[in-house]
Amino acid sequence: MKGFKQLLTMAALVLFLAACGTNDEGASEEESGSGEGGGEGQTYTVGIDTTYPPFEFEDSNGNYKGIDVDLINAIAENQGFEVTLEPMDFGGIIPALQAGQLDVAIAGMSITDERKEIVDFSEPYFEAGLTLVAQNDNNEIETLEDLDGKTVVVKSGTTGAQFAQDNQEEYGFEITVLEDSPSMFQEVSNGNADVLIEDYPVIAYAIAESNLDLKIVGDRLNGDNYGIAVLKGENADLLDKINAGLQELKDSGEYDEILNTYISE
Ligand code: GLN
Repeated sequence: MKGFKQLLTMAALVLFLAACGTNDEGASEEESGSGEGGGEGQTYTVGIDTTYPPFEFEDSNGNYKGIDVDLINAIAENQGFEVTLEPMDFGGIIPALQAGQLDVAIAGMSITDERKEIVDFSEPYFEAGLTLVAQNDNNEIETLEDLDGKTVVVKSGTTGAQFAQDNQEEYGFEITVLEDSPSMFQEVSNGNADVLIEDYPVIAYAIAESNLDLKIVGDRLNGDNYGIAVLKGENADLLDKINAGLQELKDSGEYDEILNTYISE
């Protein structure tokens, strides 16, 4: 008899909790993703480019990994907010921020003056820069001067694509635009194009980790820094938190730990 009573009490409790649960869910859905207010425990949607190791990639279990993923998760934890990661082609990320589909973007995204017209960037978190990449046995191409009549592959919406456009007339090459980095690597390694333009740390990692028939040629074409982006003028509180979190991770050594997980010096 005692057991039965306990069971009834339990059942009532479960019903009560279930009812509370429903209410809670409703409330938190309203709060999430709005990107406004910057209150404790808010959920922000973060755009990532999962074809971009060592910054972002999907492991064989379907988990998102990489420097950017670990950084944004650590910043969120440090600053008391939640993130939902949203993988997409790099070229779609800034438009998605503008359309309000994303609150944040972390995608090996270089800080540029053009982008600063549309987005606000965090403090820089990684030094990169562009380089030319050719097939291993290509001995014809060393510098931009060698690109006359050649085909250059770039990725849509990137600083590499912009660099190619800006220099196409002067050096007389054709441009092929693709949507992701692995497709670019493929295009040059199978001989459909002569060179590609990619961020130095990304191609250096790809060559070291996988059996690509590619090599880095010449000097770096420029230097730039990666930043975390939010829509311009809309998210000052969130940006403050991102910067505060980033600084704390740098001070505590966690930032270096994250880097060392993926890149060995
Ligand atoms: N850093 C480059 C840019 O910002 C490329 C980024 C990427 O391909 N994910 O355009």
